[in-house]
Amino acid sequence: MSQGRRALVRGAALLGLAAVAGCTDKAGAPGRAASPSVPAAAGPGAARAMRPSTYRLRPMAGYGAPHEAPGRLPVRREPILRMDTRDKIIVLSFDDGPDPAYTPGILRTLREYDVRAMFFVCGEQAEWNKDLLREMADDGHVIGNHTWTHPLLTKMSRSAVRYEIERTCEIIDDTTGEPPAWFRAPYGAWNRNVFRVGAELGMEPLAWTVDTNDWMEPGTRSIIRAVRDGAAPGVVVLSHDAGGNRSQSVAALRTYLPELLDSGYRVAVPRRREV
Ligand SMILES: [Zn+2]
Repeated sequence: MSQGRRALVRGAALLGLAAVAGCTDKAGAPGRAASPSVPAAAGPGAARAMRPSTYRLRPMAGYGAPHEAPGRLPVRREPILRMDTRDKIIVLSFDDGPDPAYTPGILRTLREYDVRAMFFVCGEQAEWNKDLLREMADDGHVIGNHTWTHPLLTKMSRSAVRYEIERTCEIIDDTTGEPPAWFRAPYGAWNRNVFRVGAELGMEPLAWTVDTNDWMEPGTRSIIRAVRDGAAPGVVVLSHDAGGNRSQSVAALRTYLPELLDSGYRVAVPRRREV
C-alpha cells in the first residue's frame, strides 16, 4: 500500500474518532449491535483517544487501580453479536493469526475484491509475524485483540486476564501505530472480569453471529454453505486464519466473498459509534 493510501486509511480512522465523541457516556445496554462503517475503510482503529500510557504494562501492584479516563467505556454484560443495520452489510472476521501459511492468502483475496475485514490476532502470533500485522493495517483492515496465548480467560484471575490482553494491545499499537478498539475472548468465553478489563483498556467486546466452524476442517464446501446460509444484514462471520490447517478457510473465502458481493452485500467493518 502506498503511503498516500495509508494516510487515507488513517484519516478515515480519525473521522471515526470524531464520530464517537459524545457517545461515550451512553449506557452499555447488553447485546446491542455495532454500527457498520461505510465506506468500509473507515476502521475504528483510533476510535478512542487512548494514549499508550493507559494500557502499558504496569507493575503488578498497579492492577487494582484501573485508569479512570473521562468518558471511559461502559462495562458490558454481553458481547456485541452483530451490527445494527437493515442494509445488506456483512462483517468478515478471522481469528488466531497472523499465520504466514494462511493469512497472506486471505489478505490477497480481500485485496482483490477491495474489501475490509477484521483480524482478531493473538500476541504470540503477532510477535513472530509483525510484517503481516503491518500488512493488515496498511490494507485498512481492523485489527482486534484476541489475547496473547489464547487461554480460557474465565478460568483466570483478573490480573492474569489483564496481562494477556494488555500485552496484546501493546504489540498491536507498537507494530501498527494504532491501539485496538475491539477485542474477542478466545472460545467466546466471557465473564465480568473479561468485560471489565476490555473496557478499561478502551476496547469493545465483539463476538459473532455466524460460526463457519472452519476450525473443525469440515470441508471447503461446508464453510461456503455456512456463510451462504447465514448471510443477513448486520451478520458477523467467524473464520480462522491460524490455529491449525486453515487451507479450507482460505479456499472458501475465494468462493463466498465474490458470491456475497454478487448478491448485493457490502463487506464492511463496524465502527464504534453508538454501540
Ligand atoms: Zn480464537
